[in-house]
Amino acid sequence: DNAIATQVAEWLAEAEHAVVFTGAGMSTESGIPDFRSPGGIWTRFRTVYYDEFMASPDARREYWHQKAMGHREFADSQPNAGHLVIAKWESAGNIRGVITQNIDGLHQIAGNQQVLELHGTARQIECQDCGARFDAEPLVAQYLETDEAPKCTECPKGRLKHATVSFGQSLPTAVLSKAASWSQEADLMLAIGSSLVVNPAAELPVIAKRSGSRLVIINRDPTPLDTMADLVIPGSIGEVLTAIDQAG
Ligand code: NAD
Ligand code: ZN
Repeated sequence: DNAIATQVAEWLAEAEHAVVFTGAGMSTESGIPDFRSPGGIWTRFRTVYYDEFMASPDARREYWHQKAMGHREFADSQPNAGHLVIAKWESAGNIRGVITQNIDGLHQIAGNQQVLELHGTARQIECQDCGARFDAEPLVAQYLETDEAPKCTECPKGRLKHATVSFGQSLPTAVLSKAASWSQEADLMLAIGSSLVVNPAAELPVIAKRSGSRLVIINRDPTPLDTMADLVIPGSIGEVLTAIDQAG
C-alpha cells in the first residue's frame, strides 16, 4: 500500500539513528528456509548442543554431517531485493547499520558494512580450543571427502565448529552490548522477518521503543510486539522494502 510505504520513507528520512533488525524471514526470498519452515535444515535434524559437541567425538561427527547437509543452502544463496535495498540505505546514510540474527552473511554480500551478527556466521569456522578462524567452504569440502570432523591446523587436535552460536552457547557479549546501544540510541527501528519470540530478538525492539524510538515491524506472521509497534506491515519483505525505497 502506497500510503504506508510513504509513511515509512518519511520516518526513514527524518531519522538520524535508524537501525534495521533482521531475522530468518529476511533470507527466505534467497531460498534459505526460516526456522519454522517444514523441510528446512532446522527441522530435519536433532539439535546437537554445545556441551555435547565439546564432550564427544560422536557428537562432533553428527554436527559436521548436519552442517555439511545444510551447507549448500547457504553457500549457493544470493542476496534478494530486500537485502539490496538495506545495503543501499546504509551507503546513502539512511541507516546506521544492521543487527541480524542470521548467520548466512547475505547482508555483507549485499554491501552492508555495519552488521552486528548476534548469532555469528556460518561463513567461517572457529577452533573452540585456540580461537583460530578459517573459511568454511574448504573445511566443509574436506569433511565431505574424508567423512571425519576436521581438526585445527593451528593447535593440536583443536575442535572446529562453525563460528555460529550453538544451542547451549551464550551470545557474544561485545556484539550484544553494541546492539543494545544501537537500539537505545535509535530513533527508528525496522524489525524485519523475525517472529520476535526469543531473546534478545524480542528485547532489542523493546529497548528501542522504551528509549523513544519509532518501531516498524515488517513480517508476514503476527509477532508478540505488534501491539507496541507504530506500524505493522504484514507483506513480502522484498516487495515492502522496494516500495518504501521507491517512495523515498
Ligand atoms: P523465525 O523463523 O522464527 O521467524 C521468521 C519470520 O519471518 C516468520 O514470522 C515469518 O512469518 C516471516 N517471514 C518469512 N519469510 C518472509 C517473507 N518473505 N516476507 C515477510 N515475512 C516473512 O526467525 P527468527 O526470528 O530469525 O528466529 C530463527 C533463528 O534461527 C534465528 O535466531 C537465526 O539465528 C536462526 N536461523 C537463521 C537463518 C539464516 O541465517 N538465514 C535461517 C533460519 C534460522
Ligand atoms: Zn586450534
